[in-house]
Amino acid sequence: MLIANVQVIGRSGLVDVRCAQGVIAQVGSSLARVTGEQVIDGAGAALLPGLHDHHIHLFALAALHNSVQCGPPAVSSRAQLAAALREDRGSGWLRGVGYHESVAGSLGRRELDELVAHRPLKIQHRSGKLWMVNSLAAQLLALDGHAQQTGVELDEAGKPNGRLYRLDGWMRAQLAQSAPASMPSLARLSRLLASYGVTGLTDTTPDNDAVTLREFERAASSGELLQRLRVMGGDALPASAGEQVQSAERKVMLDDNRLPGWDELCTVIRGAHGKGRAVAVHCVTPAELVLTLSALRDVGVHPGDRIEHASLVPQELLPLLRETGVRVVTQPGFIHERGDQYLDAIAPPEHDDLYRGRTFLTQRIPLAGSTDAPYGNPDPWAAMRAAVHRRSRAAQTIGAQEVLTPEEALALFTSAGDDPGGASRAIAVGQPADLCLLSYRWEQARLRLCAEDVSATLRQGEFIYRKQQPVLSGEQHAAPP
Ligand SMILES: [Zn+2]
Repeated sequence: MLIANVQVIGRSGLVDVRCAQGVIAQVGSSLARVTGEQVIDGAGAALLPGLHDHHIHLFALAALHNSVQCGPPAVSSRAQLAAALREDRGSGWLRGVGYHESVAGSLGRRELDELVAHRPLKIQHRSGKLWMVNSLAAQLLALDGHAQQTGVELDEAGKPNGRLYRLDGWMRAQLAQSAPASMPSLARLSRLLASYGVTGLTDTTPDNDAVTLREFERAASSGELLQRLRVMGGDALPASAGEQVQSAERKVMLDDNRLPGWDELCTVIRGAHGKGRAVAVHCVTPAELVLTLSALRDVGVHPGDRIEHASLVPQELLPLLRETGVRVVTQPGFIHERGDQYLDAIAPPEHDDLYRGRTFLTQRIPLAGSTDAPYGNPDPWAAMRAAVHRRSRAAQTIGAQEVLTPEEALALFTSAGDDPGGASRAIAVGQPADLCLLSYRWEQARLRLCAEDVSATLRQGEFIYRKQQPVLSGEQHAAPP
């Protein structure tokens, strides 16, 4: 296939890009056509490396399509929550997501029974770490028989109150005994991500194991999953190095209200490194970051070690972060999506510490971008816009000194999956033909950073997305709306 007349950032003039056997075989101006070869006219638009979302949770995102939104902005009061739950007239499990205490305070089984009593209900907190279930759901989970299970919260009488912390894996196992759990299909979701220009993903779900890995491999071989996928997980995740699906870093969850002991964390990190595996440590608060960086400094850093989120990084932690040499995988989209709530909940002196951008680049801390969907919007272009504008939904600016240029924002999503924050993948001979073709020149597209400007996406030289409307040719190139 020949992608003709495209603009490649960093090269002058238009070029043709030839793909063969899944890789870029030739890049040059006015390449001779080969008989029988498919030719796509880029009409002067920009050709980018396919985007890689460095932190996403695919099965949870796919399940979200069948879930009730239980938090802001869609739902912001108890009455709205009740109405939203009533709207789902299905039977069987009712699944809610995105809950936040600003809606109706702290919820347990008693409060949920008042909202829905006739079918099992589970609602996930926006943080992703807490599920709240009603009595019918508690029964199906045999919750009362597991009061001793770590993460099961108890009421004053010592009875499980329906609040379950970090027990996704346990809940799945409990339910598998009554009805075999079936994973949601990734087909629709994967096509949606392809329409954003996404050719690679890193699934960072901490309890990914042999079962989920097999399910990802099945989705890849059946054509349901169109992207390359790196799968993080716990100790139970087997090694796998397939062409499309590979197992990746050891994910380490930290939780500010029950941080692991020093020895425990060092043992986990040492264990992963001992198997040649890097770690990806969830660090949202400064306390989590200090603990992690100190442990890494003590144990020693593996080349791929990464910090997930780094949501709040005080100035005084920057030297330690830089010196440790770990990568940061950030979610600039949260500045837009959650910015107003952050401004309310976080003390003003810390506002500048939120999801830093420019500071990390200036300090030469490798920085990669991601959406953390379903906890964030899965559209990486929305995340890029937030990195550039740093504005909340209510148009409040957060950390004006942290703004990135459109090129820097794009680069967050163009480093290789196994080199987050490294150099952008080049459009050069021998590179995998994982590409994202826009409808406009970069000079125009950079002002919009808009998913609608993606006109085609290719992985290994094959289309995984093509926009319906034809690409305009030559000089009739319209200015973007
Ligand atoms: Zn996450």
